[in-house]
Amino acid sequence: MTGKELLYSGKAKDLYATENDEVIVAVYKDQATALNGLKKEQVLGKGQLNNQISSLIFEKLNRAGIATHFLEKLSDTEQLNKKVAIIPLEVVLRNYTAGSFSKRFGVAEGLKLVEPIVEFYYKKDELDDPFINDEHVAFLDIASTEELTYIKAETRKINQLLIEWFAAIGLTLIDFKLEFGKDQDGKIILADEFSPDNCRLWDAEGHHMDKDVFRRGLGNMTDVYQIVWEKLQELD
Ligand code: UDP
Repeated sequence: MTGKELLYSGKAKDLYATENDEVIVAVYKDQATALNGLKKEQVLGKGQLNNQISSLIFEKLNRAGIATHFLEKLSDTEQLNKKVAIIPLEVVLRNYTAGSFSKRFGVAEGLKLVEPIVEFYYKKDELDDPFINDEHVAFLDIASTEELTYIKAETRKINQLLIEWFAAIGLTLIDFKLEFGKDQDGKIILADEFSPDNCRLWDAEGHHMDKDVFRRGLGNMTDVYQIVWEKLQELD
């Protein structure tokens, strides 16, 4: 990517303008962060793996009828996305207890929830992305009641698809985080990425096949992401 205007530089991706005002290029970076950026490392090959994984998942979501920003994978580290205005919500869905949920409620990790639980976090780095509920979403004017209902329903639909795809390659989808945006017609579509950076995947032996490897210092991140990528390619 050369010569194009840098629109946004995030922790894991940079976004560039294209000659088409409705389309951007996302460039995945070899950078891993945790604890809201406090822990930061260069991890060679991570950008490519996440771009490959996220492109594959978004392509499958598009084919399954989910409206997403994904247009096409351009190269090892770049993809073409519809330009959206990101809704400042981190939408977390949990199938099993883990991470901050286990800490907050004092429960062990790995307990299956009777019904998947959707949570919202206000996407604001300065505030460390606080945990919020539907009424806070209204107070902060982040989304209308109808929009929030749609976001929740889409998240649950996406979860059903993802659970199945990961189960088919021997992985349990513990939880994940999504972000939605509004396209230029005001339609809410799935944006950001889906990779082991923003979900938890456990294999049959309970090994962490996701960013917890980095957060918890359990091993080599790219080795684990590579396995997920190889398994995902077995799907059609
Ligand atoms: N997550 C994320 N970005 C964040 C926080 C969480 O992608 O800023 C993902 C995380 O990878 C996990 C899910 O959201 O799949 C739930 O994370 P949790 O609230 O348990 O927080 P953590 O324990 O990761 O701090």
